[in-house]
Amino acid sequence: MTFFYIVVFFVGASLGSFVNATAMRLAVGEGINGRSYCRTCRRTLRWFELIPVFSYLAQMGSCRRCKARLSPRYVLAEVLLGLYAISLFFYVSNGILVTPLDSLFLRLGFLPYLLFTLYFLIGAALFFVALHDLDTKLVIVALPRTIAALGVTLLILQILFLPQIPRIEVYKIVLLSLLILAGFWLVSLATRGRGLGWGDAEVAFAVSLFLPFPLAILMVLFSFWSGALVAVSLLLFSGAGLKTQVPFAPFIVFGFFAALFGGNYLLPHILPLV
Ligand SMILES: [Zn+2]
Repeated sequence: MTFFYIVVFFVGASLGSFVNATAMRLAVGEGINGRSYCRTCRRTLRWFELIPVFSYLAQMGSCRRCKARLSPRYVLAEVLLGLYAISLFFYVSNGILVTPLDSLFLRLGFLPYLLFTLYFLIGAALFFVALHDLDTKLVIVALPRTIAALGVTLLILQILFLPQIPRIEVYKIVLLSLLILAGFWLVSLATRGRGLGWGDAEVAFAVSLFLPFPLAILMVLFSFWSGALVAVSLLLFSGAGLKTQVPFAPFIVFGFFAALFGGNYLLPHILPLV
């Protein structure tokens, strides 16, 4: 079993490495394709310098030739997506991941593998959206739109193929997601796009479709709480002014992961506070 977890971690970390490298390439106007290279001496990296986490640790976080410090962002991205993959694998293999699509996947038979693959790929795409937003303060809306289209399609399939599932359960999720979309849109109008942008609204809508009712509410709370915490810390400790723009998609993505893994345990404690 430990072996599986190690494999899953490395699959996650490898994708984290790819997602981070792609985000960094796009941020400096390069295409998606091309070999990885050192950003200081521009030397192309050899295969053994591309092993997630290990290469970074073995080289003690610096380039083998020019000794330039490598951004800890490389190893952080690998560890974060690796941990996401492990957590997802743990939840799915122990049958404790609750999603709006459980009945549909149960009907299809191979529930654990499909659920794991679907949520893993969505998590990686969201991670990319968050990194790209951090770099450029822009959300690539094609990604949340694809995720939303996939979510709506799967929910419709669930209604069509599983008439025994109360439709109201599916409607509740779609309605809550639309309310969240409208809420984010109103905040973006009220702050003239400085606090939140339309892209953030689309990300919030897309992830809400993949959370069981009513955990999307927690996703919103977690994202605003973590966003406020970081904004206040920046204001206090880094001399950032009130006008400093803080990209919000990373907090929505954090809120989604927190709600997905912790929502069912935290819901009874948090709802009385709201
Ligand atoms: Zn170098």
